[in-house]
Formats: sequence, C-alpha cells, structure tokens
Amino acid sequence: MINRTMFDEVMVPNYAPSQIIPVRGAGSRVWDQSGKEYIDFAGGIAVNALGHCHPELVKTLQEQGQTLWHLSNVWTNEPALKLAKQLCDATFAQRVLFANSGAEANEAALKLARLYAKKHYSSEKTEIIAFKNSFHGRTLFTVTAGGQPKYTEGFEPLPGDITHLPFNDLAAVEYQISNKTCAVIVEPIQGEGGIIAAEPVFLEGLRALCTQHNALLIFDEVQTGMGRTGKLFAYQGYQVTPDILTTAKALGCGFPIGAMLTSHDIAASFSVGTHGSTYGGNPLACAVASRALELINDPTLLAGVTQRQQMFISGLKQLNQKIGLFRDIRVEGLLIGCELKEAWQGKARDLLTQAQEQGVLVLTAGPDVLRLAPSLVIPYPEMKKGLQQLAQAMLAIKMGF
Ligand SMILES: *Cc1c(COP(=O)(O)O)cnc(C)c1O
Repeated sequence: MINRTMFDEVMVPNYAPSQIIPVRGAGSRVWDQSGKEYIDFAGGIAVNALGHCHPELVKTLQEQGQTLWHLSNVWTNEPALKLAKQLCDATFAQRVLFANSGAEANEAALKLARLYAKKHYSSEKTEIIAFKNSFHGRTLFTVTAGGQPKYTEGFEPLPGDITHLPFNDLAAVEYQISNKTCAVIVEPIQGEGGIIAAEPVFLEGLRALCTQHNALLIFDEVQTGMGRTGKLFAYQGYQVTPDILTTAKALGCGFPIGAMLTSHDIAASFSVGTHGSTYGGNPLACAVASRALELINDPTLLAGVTQRQQMFISGLKQLNQKIGLFRDIRVEGLLIGCELKEAWQGKARDLLTQAQEQGVLVLTAGPDVLRLAPSLVIPYPEMKKGLQQLAQAMLAIKMGF
C-alpha cells in the first residue's frame, strides 16, 4: 500500500507535501487515492497551462513515445529544431538553448552573460545585478542570484559578484550599475515573491541602463511565460525587449523542459563545448512543448486568459468584500496573489489546507500570500465551484480554524 506515511520513510525531507496523494487528473479536476475530487487552482505551480492530460498533448506524447525518446546532443532532432523555430518566430529571439528546468535555463543565461562580457569587454566585467525577494531556481548560482537569503544559508561559499537591490527601485539600479556590470536579471512579475509586477517604467529604465552600460538584460519568464499573463511572454505586454529570456514551467505543460532565448550575436559567446546537457532538447520533451506552444500561442486562447482574469478579479473581490481576509488582491493574467491582512499573516499554508478540505487545490507564495495559477483553459463551472470552495476555506480561517 502506497501512502503519505511512506514519504517520511523514503524521501529526503526537503518538502512537506499535503496529506492527500492525488492519483489522477483531467482538465482542471484532480482525484486523490480515496476518490475525492478537487478543483485545481494550483496548476502544478503554473506548469499545467492546459490542465491535466490534455488530449492533444497526450496524443503527441504517445506518438513521440513510439518514435524516438532520446539521442543526446551528439545528434540533433526534429522536435527540438521545430520547437526552436517556433520560439524564434514567436519572440525577439534568434537562437535557443534547451535545458530541463527553469534553474538550468537561468544557469545558462548567467554563464552566457559572464562569457559575453569577458569576450566583448573585459575580465573585470562580472557583476550581476539581481533583486531582493526574487526567485531564479535552486542551483548554487541561481539560488545566489535569487533574493531570498534563507535559501542560501548554509551553502556558503557562494558564487561571487552578485548584488541585490530593491525591486521596482530604478534609482538604486542607476546608482549601482557600472561598466563592471555584465547583466541584470529580473522577473517581470515576481512569482515566488508574492505576485508583484514590475512597474513599466522600472523595466523601461533597466533596458536603458543596460544598453548604456553594455550589460545584458535577462528576463526570467519561467513562471510568467507561455500565456500566463495573457501575452505569450510577459515582456510583450511591457513592450520592453530583453537580451536573454528564460522560460520553463508551462513550456512543457508538465513534461520537464526549459529554454534560454537570445540573439544570434549574444549566443555566439557559447562556442562548441562551453555549455551542455545530456537531456536538454530531448525529443520527447520538445515534441510535447512544440504542441503546447502551438495550442497556447493562439489569439483565442490568449484572449480567454484575459476573460478568465476578469472573472477571477470580480469573483475574488466579491468574496473578500463579504469575508475580508485579504488586504490586497493582485491579478496578473492567471497568476494571482491574495495577501492576507495583518491579523491573519502567516496563515497562507493553513488556508491552503482548509481549501483542500473544501475541495480546491491552491498554492502559497511565502507565509502571507495565497497564490493561484490555474490552467489557462479552466472551464467556467470549475472556476465558479473552486471560488465557492475557497470562500468556505476563507470563512474557516476567519473563524479561527
Ligand atoms: C520556478 C521558477 C524557477 C525555477 O524553475 P525550476 O524548474 O524549479 O528549476 C526559476 N525562476 C522563476 C521565476 C520561477 O518561478
């Protein structure tokens, strides 16, 4: 019998998963071992952009599974080339590097920025500017770039020459940036940090400062990419073009894959042998991501994200008017953060547990923020039902459960 108790017996204790074990999913519904049904507002942390077991993705996975799984980068493959072409056609990019996760895509971006600066300018040009409260992954380089000291504690010595500045504070960047800066890495919307959007003038200012100081502007769109904000990538809504963009999470809609996108000129600093991955660009992952991109990069689907966003805004505001648990509701496409009022701070995880009891799966972003990242195609009845269940959970928290 496989059960939750086994987790504590066989797994490294770096997670504290919920008490239920989901065993099956379809669209925006999930069922656990006991057969209980849940509405999924978590979306695998902004990964399952097309819901669970989307028939088109299942079909692609099955077809590719019977054709070719893996080669390594000693040979290229058709799905990888097709996906790279699609990504270039849909964005500013001219070159693509595939990885297996968001952290790896960012690791590649930071390494590339260092190499590019050395090649084109000087060996002193190594500083990376990043932002407080940001998240870029868990490899040592990316976790150090991330702006949450609790995640690097104990792992010292850390990679050097990374400066953390307050997010949305352009004056701080203006003061710090110099000809020794090789890159600025930023999430257009901080996800793990609580769904905090960059102000347009902030990103515009970063663009101008990077250009002025020959530093590369890296947008980490691991969480905001692939339609999450109602644009294919969030930068397209800001109309600020980065030099390097990283994406992962929803790129494979649940099949692990990440990508780094850049220009021909910048890409040229990675010559043969300077970087690599055994799995990166694997045919199975690329075939699924290619189909996912076809389905997501569609005007009707993207317009549907904006419609659902409006429904979440009005739905959540209505609930909060009655129950009054949140002091701020931040809705960026279908990336939603509800910040708890003072009196309930620290209770986001309790709210998650209560919501699960009521039959809706949600996320947190830190101790004080409820986060929702549902499927981009979540049906309206599911949205309505999930919001009702969430209201019950909010009432339970308010009454002190
Ligand atoms: C999730 C996330 C990452 C890390 O992605 P992994 O696939 O977990 O390595 C990096 N950056 C951002 C903005 C993320 O949300």
